[in-house]
Amino acid sequence: MRLRNIAGSREVIKESPFVVQDAETKKGMWNHVFGNDHPIQAEIGMGKGRFLMELAARNPQINYIGIEKYSSVLLRAIQKMEELNLPNVRFIRMDAEDITEFFAQGELDKIYLNFSDPWPKDRHAKRRLPSRQFLERYDKILKRDGRLEFKTDNRDLFDFALEELEPAGWKAEAVTFDLHHDEKMCEGNIMTEYEERFSSQGNPICKYIIYR
Ligand code: SAM
Repeated sequence: MRLRNIAGSREVIKESPFVVQDAETKKGMWNHVFGNDHPIQAEIGMGKGRFLMELAARNPQINYIGIEKYSSVLLRAIQKMEELNLPNVRFIRMDAEDITEFFAQGELDKIYLNFSDPWPKDRHAKRRLPSRQFLERYDKILKRDGRLEFKTDNRDLFDFALEELEPAGWKAEAVTFDLHHDEKMCEGNIMTEYEERFSSQGNPICKYIIYR
């Protein structure tokens, strides 16, 4: 998702209490940011943050961090947070390539990837968020028995993501190629913005839950 540049979005982000400024300085100290020792989960590439905020509203005992690369998109999430004002949500504007600079070993309890950009050209494979290069980064910041959940309607990207597991040292705990018709995996499912759009066009949604 890349929205047209919105004038002033960088200024709004800089002043928003929902966005953690100089977030690298919080590495290893995210509990202080939230003021409690609840588990911390993150969505990487949250877009406008609809999934993350719904999840946070349902789980007040868990802290959530939404990571988004583009200011124009993050601005939309901030606007929604101004209405919802959830105490257990914060945002970081960053490229997830640098994620290990922002979190200490084992600091995250769970990571969500939803409808990540496919980067279809082979030479861009390492930019895909479920690639082995990113799995290596997640390995450094996710706690030992943590889980990563990935949803997409893009079958090529999903097949690629499954093939990346073994070389990266991860294992699948659960896999479906049609989430909305998988009673067990769909239980409690929160639709993301893209999920709603693509499933309404008839695309089946793939999902895995992985661990290492
Ligand atoms: N997760 C949302 C959903 O399912 O509705 C948005 C999906 S959208 C296709 C992918 C989002 O990931 C975009 O907002 C994009 O800017 C963000 N993104 C892609 N690569 C990223 C990266 N390396 N770091 C942070 N955000 C990224």
